[in-house]
Amino acid sequence: MNQKTKKEASLLVQGYEVVIGFETHAQLATQSKIFSRAPTAFGAEPNTQACAVDLALPGTLPVMNREAVAHAIRLGLALGSHIAEQSVFARKNYFYPDLPKGYQISQFEIPVVQGGEVSFFLGDQKKTVRLVRAHLEEDAGKSLHEDFIGQSGIDLNRAGTPLLEIVTEPDIRSSAEAVAYAKELHKIVTWIGVCDGNMQEGSFRCDANVSVRKPGAPLGTRREIKNLNSFKFMQQAIDFEVRWQIEQIEDGFEIQQATVLFDPDTGETRAMRTKEDAADYRYFPDPDLPPLVIARSWVDEVKAAMPELPRQMAERLVADYGLPEYDATTLTQSPAMAAYFETAAKASGQAKMASNWIMGEISRRLNNEGKEISQAPVSAPQLAALLRRIDDGSLSNNAAKQVMDVLWTESGEYRIPGWPDGFASIREWAQVLNAVTESLRIVDAVIEAKGLKQMNDSGALEAIIDEVLAANAPMVEQFKAGKDKAFNALVGMVMKASKGKANPQQVNDVLRSKLQG
Ligand code: ADP
Ligand code: MG
Repeated sequence: MNQKTKKEASLLVQGYEVVIGFETHAQLATQSKIFSRAPTAFGAEPNTQACAVDLALPGTLPVMNREAVAHAIRLGLALGSHIAEQSVFARKNYFYPDLPKGYQISQFEIPVVQGGEVSFFLGDQKKTVRLVRAHLEEDAGKSLHEDFIGQSGIDLNRAGTPLLEIVTEPDIRSSAEAVAYAKELHKIVTWIGVCDGNMQEGSFRCDANVSVRKPGAPLGTRREIKNLNSFKFMQQAIDFEVRWQIEQIEDGFEIQQATVLFDPDTGETRAMRTKEDAADYRYFPDPDLPPLVIARSWVDEVKAAMPELPRQMAERLVADYGLPEYDATTLTQSPAMAAYFETAAKASGQAKMASNWIMGEISRRLNNEGKEISQAPVSAPQLAALLRRIDDGSLSNNAAKQVMDVLWTESGEYRIPGWPDGFASIREWAQVLNAVTESLRIVDAVIEAKGLKQMNDSGALEAIIDEVLAANAPMVEQFKAGKDKAFNALVGMVMKASKGKANPQQVNDVLRSKLQG
């Protein structure tokens, strides 16, 4: 098998290819609704935040929210899409209790954002998912099922909340790719600030269209898993759905197109309704809204104000710091993490070490404590100071971890004067340099207090090695008889005798020359 078919074959599930297309609803971070001035804040008393326009009461007219359009432009620019000079709002007609006006204003034939793509890494494999479109639309209200009183209620606060629905081609080939896609899109929308990304509050909701087929066959019939609002459930739901569909087909049944819900309690997907076709919605252009016209000059203005995007930043980290692409991608999880890295890398001159420490030791501690990098008790200048002490031989890697531990757990005591908490980024370089000088003093104090200074005095080391060799003659014999393990054991004993302070590389060199000499 060549490389490509091998990779494709590895994605098959019981001989079937999985095909997934995503529809994601990103709630746009605006103060007010998409067509009215009612507020969008989350968590208000039910039915206090929908105004007459949101309910389309007679005599009201919708007025486009300019900031919602600006967000659509931002997203289109970030995804390399075409931004339509003119797009059209349409009414999507359906009956549901949480939509008392009987139609949702959406975009159908001509959406504002067209084409584009999302690329990400899955392990070391780069994957690109093509986008069909992203269109502006309003959210509906919400049904509340108050089981304890046996009644259902409707909360219309969410009615008219601005959404962008981002639709992919059916390019995704596994649940792992689906999660990686959704995480990448989530990163982009939060990075550029068009969406707060809060999945619990429903600000970022994914629908996964899933089908299976034999390799090379036409697309199978899909079922759409609605409202996946956690990455964990997303993976579970898709895995279950794929197994279920394969089982149905193997048992001789045909898949019926349907909308399904995932139940986290049972881990199963369950059909909610058979799927409507576009024709069922009787789409027509909304007579209350003129076409949305976006001047090129506005697009240019938005473009000029865009931040560096995660992918561009990752490419820059590779070019400027010689980082592997994997490191660069991991470090550009958030603007705060990227800034932390850049500060530590520049201030220490040790980019790869900074990357290793942030992806390893620091991320592990943050994960354990459920913290963001902006809440790290050890700041970027402190990491830089630590790396400099490793680099100049004062600290072994192991001892450096112990210093990190002290700085992390006793951070209150080892705070850098004048360096605000959570301030990870390079603003004033002079301030960073001051903080590093201060941090070196702090790190040296910890090294001193805990007796962690690495022994670089070769005379003292030789004395220790001579003692160890004299006390372990049988081990030396074994080494001479060709047992490599004996060498490692001797290194271990020397390290122990030095109370961990010897430089392991130096121990290796001196020991080998003594044994061979
Ligand atoms: P609808 O209008 O019913 O929502 P679309 O054609 O807009 O259908 O497709 C919705 C989503 O479903 C898109 O993300 C698309 O890529 C995906 N999709 C379409 N056909 C399939 C299929 N056979 N298997 C998996 N996903 C599919
Ligand atoms: Mg659709």
